[in-house]
Amino acid sequence: MRYREADYDVVVIGAGHAGTEAGLAAARMGMEVLVLTINLDSAGAMPCNPAIGGPAKGHLVREIDALGGEMGRAIDDTYVQMRLLNTGKGPAVQSLRAQADKREYGHRILRALMQQPRLRLKQAMADGLIVEDGRVTGVSTKTGVCYGADVVIITAGVYLQGRVFTGEYGYESGPNGLTPATDLSVDLVEHGLEMGRFMTGTPPRVSRSTVDTSRMQRQDGDRERQGFSFMSPSNNPDEVGEVSEEVAHEQLPCWLTHTSADTHRIVQENIGRTPMYDGTMEAAGPRYCPCLEDKVMQFPDRTSHPVFLEPEGRDVQEMYIQGLSTSLPEDVQVRVLRTIAGLEKAEIVRPGYGIEYDYVDPTQLYASLESKKISGLFFAGQVNGTSGYEEAAAQGIMAGINAGLLLRDREPLVLDRSQAYIGVLIDDLVTTGVDEPYRMLTSRAEYRLLLRGDNADFRLTELGHEVGLVSDGRYARARRRRRLVEEEIDRLNETRVRGDDVNTHLENLGTSPLSEVSSLAQLLRRPEVSYETLAPVDPHRPQLARSVRDSVEIEIKYEGYIGKQKEQVRRYRRSERTRIPHDVDYAVIPGLSREAREKLQRVMPRSLGQAMRIPGVSPSDISVLMVWLERDRGRT
Ligand SMILES: Cc1cc2nc3c(=O)[nH]c(=O)nc-3n(C[C@H](O)[C@H](O)[C@H](O)COP(=O)(O)OP(=O)(O)OC[C@H]3O[C@@H](n4cnc5c(N)ncnc54)[C@H](O)[C@@H]3O)c2cc1C
Repeated sequence: MRYREADYDVVVIGAGHAGTEAGLAAARMGMEVLVLTINLDSAGAMPCNPAIGGPAKGHLVREIDALGGEMGRAIDDTYVQMRLLNTGKGPAVQSLRAQADKREYGHRILRALMQQPRLRLKQAMADGLIVEDGRVTGVSTKTGVCYGADVVIITAGVYLQGRVFTGEYGYESGPNGLTPATDLSVDLVEHGLEMGRFMTGTPPRVSRSTVDTSRMQRQDGDRERQGFSFMSPSNNPDEVGEVSEEVAHEQLPCWLTHTSADTHRIVQENIGRTPMYDGTMEAAGPRYCPCLEDKVMQFPDRTSHPVFLEPEGRDVQEMYIQGLSTSLPEDVQVRVLRTIAGLEKAEIVRPGYGIEYDYVDPTQLYASLESKKISGLFFAGQVNGTSGYEEAAAQGIMAGINAGLLLRDREPLVLDRSQAYIGVLIDDLVTTGVDEPYRMLTSRAEYRLLLRGDNADFRLTELGHEVGLVSDGRYARARRRRRLVEEEIDRLNETRVRGDDVNTHLENLGTSPLSEVSSLAQLLRRPEVSYETLAPVDPHRPQLARSVRDSVEIEIKYEGYIGKQKEQVRRYRRSERTRIPHDVDYAVIPGLSREAREKLQRVMPRSLGQAMRIPGVSPSDISVLMVWLERDRGRT
């Protein structure tokens, strides 16, 4: 007889990146929350690269932060290096990337979870769901305990039926030698959920003292740094002086080296001993984080691939070898290291490995991340077929918010593709599904010029405030920053200058002189001119914080493109506004193709726009659906 310990509003299975955001969001919205994890010390663990952010992933972190999430603040408190990437490219793809102190980050997350009112964190292995009449009512654990719950959020990561491989050796395991979650996966199938199988891999870690960095190229962080969180000092709109996060964080360097022809020869000679090439591991892996074996076999003409040595933390003696993810046998991993400049004497402290795991097909979920089959059951993170800490955390906060809204009988919060990368991520998952681990890319976002890192607070903080995750003070701060940005844009548009006053300066900037009166904004649109370099001819400008200046410059310089994209969004929103009832029986709609009927019945799109994005639903199917909806509306 299982012992029913207690009842909660929300039970979250997992304290990884998704579970943390989900648990904190629901508790901060006033719910009584229990978060279960297989190992308390692995809360917020980074089983792979010690980094957060980068293109598209950094955008997700800013959006999570703008909604009131934890990841942005946690990494700003624990990073060992911060860089703004793609500064040579447009603002849509510029993004922060931070090297994390993995231990400090995990501790920081554990603290946030354990200090959160109404949230209880507990070490336990969930082995099954309690479901009554199609509704989840609780969770059971391997030690005979069960917990009542009105909502359950599963964020089990790569643990479901986890199986690890290094060369010819494979065994049941979660990441880093932790226990896999086998029973829960079996239980989900018994409850009618369709599962798939994916894999991912990680490189060996080597002892820092055995790495010869004199043979490598040093890569330092940015001197003047910004934080991910809009609550960090460098993003404070009231802070007009030069603020850098410098104070707290002495930065650590990363190091660049390369594989060699010998490296590639050793991989080719031993390719038959790797699980990915001897047929042992057949699951699909992350295309955009290819392992060494794939790089060597798929690009035989390449003579070398870049390899980055990244510190795993300040007082941690391990270095992460970015670019050497592998499940080669250990003896081969050692030989591979001997062929790479600076790693000739490197000692492996953790061998690289591949891990296969079960995931839930996300087309079984509504855009709220609630299951269509079992109400009150939500899924978030790698368990939905994604890859990456940031993608997981983004789903986690949405699942937590929607759990809270469900328990308050309110409509779920669904961000659309023009509002946020989070909206693109979830819409892709529930509409198109996944056939390999899904990683967020800027190219996936049609309206990426509107979804920049710098304006995430303008797009999302109001929504975070509405659901009760963002405080009044923080919301006021975001509104203040928006007002400062708009006022400065107006001032630059209204401030007129004559050639006599500015031409000498313009020539110094290498741009053509003015022949007629112009606004400062018009000058700022010139590629040779920046907000900073305009200062000498703009003596009455107000002192503004960096986060305000940056947004002003982007909004003015890209005004034309931004305007065009807003027009596209108006068209997109029209098809999104054409709602489709959630109980349509596509079997009875005449004229639909068989494939479209199946796919529409599976995805149950909530709008015409979503129906248009389902692979296999053709434009003629959409016309049939539009006519039917019109007629159906006429009938009701
Ligand atoms: C070997 C490896 C390599 C990776 N490589 C990459 C990469 O190259 N690029 C990339 O972007 N991402 C990579 N990742 C993925 C990245 O680590 C994950 O995307 C991220 O950690 C997912 O976050 P999550 O919250 O979904 O799950 P996780 O962080 O895995 O957390 C899962 C949580 O669920 C708990 N849990 C699971 N089952 C149960 C249960 N039954 N009962 C109680 N608790 C349970 C665990 O204890 C843990 O707290 C890799 C991961 C691994 C393991």
